[in-house]
Amino acid sequence: MWCRKKKRETGVTIRDGVRKVLTAKRDAQLATSLLLVIWVSVIVATSWQIWSAHQRTLSEIDTNNRNLAQTLNTYAEGVFTQSSMLLLGMLERLEVEGTTPEHLVRMQQLVGRQEHLLSQLNELLVIDASGKWLMSSRGKFVDGANSADRRFFSYHRDNPSHEIFIGAPIRSRSTGEWGLTISRRFESKEGDFAGVIVVVLGIENFLHLFGKIDVGEQGSIGLATTSGQLLVRYPFREQDLGRDFSRSPNFLRYYSNLKSGTASFESGIDGTERLYAFRSNERYPIFTVVARGRYEALQAWRSQALLTAGVVLGLLAVVTLIGWRLILLIRQRAQAETSLMAVREKLLDANLELERLATQDSLTGLANRRRFDEVLQLEVRRAARDGTVLSLLLIDLDHFKGFNDRYGHVAGDECLKAVSRQLELSAKRSGDLAARYGGEELAIILPNTALEGGMRVAEELLKCIRGLGIAHESSQFGHVTVSIGAASIRGRHGLASPLDLVEAADQALYRAKAAGRNRAEC
Ligand code: GH3
Ligand code: MG
Ligand code: MG
Repeated sequence: MWCRKKKRETGVTIRDGVRKVLTAKRDAQLATSLLLVIWVSVIVATSWQIWSAHQRTLSEIDTNNRNLAQTLNTYAEGVFTQSSMLLLGMLERLEVEGTTPEHLVRMQQLVGRQEHLLSQLNELLVIDASGKWLMSSRGKFVDGANSADRRFFSYHRDNPSHEIFIGAPIRSRSTGEWGLTISRRFESKEGDFAGVIVVVLGIENFLHLFGKIDVGEQGSIGLATTSGQLLVRYPFREQDLGRDFSRSPNFLRYYSNLKSGTASFESGIDGTERLYAFRSNERYPIFTVVARGRYEALQAWRSQALLTAGVVLGLLAVVTLIGWRLILLIRQRAQAETSLMAVREKLLDANLELERLATQDSLTGLANRRRFDEVLQLEVRRAARDGTVLSLLLIDLDHFKGFNDRYGHVAGDECLKAVSRQLELSAKRSGDLAARYGGEELAIILPNTALEGGMRVAEELLKCIRGLGIAHESSQFGHVTVSIGAASIRGRHGLASPLDLVEAADQALYRAKAAGRNRAEC
């Protein structure tokens, strides 16, 4: 019984330890999950923030480019409208007054007076039906100057349209300067082709204006015809002038289809990836393009994103370090708890063993006298409390002194052990206790057992010990025998103390001895 209680207590302690270890393991898992959640959420939030800043930057660049493209478009429209008006005025004079030298001189003077109104104007030319120059607003020109080979001339000669024609940039044969041509045909009174009147706009003026606009080092600004001919482009490269990009994939995809828009692609001219905004003019077949180098335009965003990512990763590293330290501590705690549990278990086992040894007789393995006294006291009280009957058997080996004398003490010890084993077998019920009372005197406590029951156990024990057949020549029986004294107390009405019970059993034992031994008395 005492052992069961101890085991229960030990079980509780171990369960407690196991719970602590499990809790520590769960804490470590929880800390790891928490770290993971922090990592994932911070990375997702930062990535989203960087991505939305990227989109915002692109959208701001697009808006700026779009506004610039619109403004430049309006500017170009103004220049082209002024040029058209100048053309119209001169045309009317030509058609009414003809191309006599006096009229041409007057026209030249008239243009001279209007020149300051159109600062982009380089030259105004009147060319006859054969391409020969009749008049230049600059005054003198080389004799025999002829523009029959120019594209604008052949266009008007072969095309009866009265619309203006915007031609590709040409290089002046007299000054070597580059210019855009805006031209119209004029006719004789009979309606036949009589020549062309051309306004030449210096591209220097456009470049001057475009150069003042900040589009970064990789940016570009362009003016082109809707048929895919480049008129002016900043930054200036001579080989780009008049470039025909009507077949380029970017032109076909964007400029030829849409009135305005934005796009991001690699320039066909210099291979730089740019963010483009374009706008076509509603009155003239031209469009303006403003572009910023993609890499350059996103530089500020890139620096900001790198800084943000660096700071966040740094913070994450610190959090991870702290978290990892925490997890290590928790793991160490779990390990310490496990070792502590093992030590505690060993200690408890050792205690149990110690207690067992302290209550066990080393020779016979039966409960010792100390244990006997404890249990007897306990059982006497229990019997008094519950009103049950408690029996006690005192067993004494007969003529044991003689046995020792005859066979020696070692054989005596062996005999004592053999008899003790029979006692253990007789104490069958769980509450029964077989003990060594002292010397060759043994005892059995039989709780909840009446005297008749106790006597039955005693008789059986006598039989068993006789049955052992241990030779004992000094005894009248020829083998080892015992004498047994039995006594009982019944609940509240019985004897008052354990001593009384022992006394009673001892008297019965004395009677058994006196009656000739090898018997039980009660
Ligand atoms: P009785 O039949 O009257 O009991 O005679 P007895 O010889 O058994 O009684 P006595 O009290 O004269 O002798 C007891 C003997 O038991 C004395 C002692 O040598 C022996 N004895 C007691 N304890 C032990 C023990 O642990 N081992 C051995 N071998 N002998 C023991
Ligand atoms: Mg004795
Ligand atoms: Mg004896």
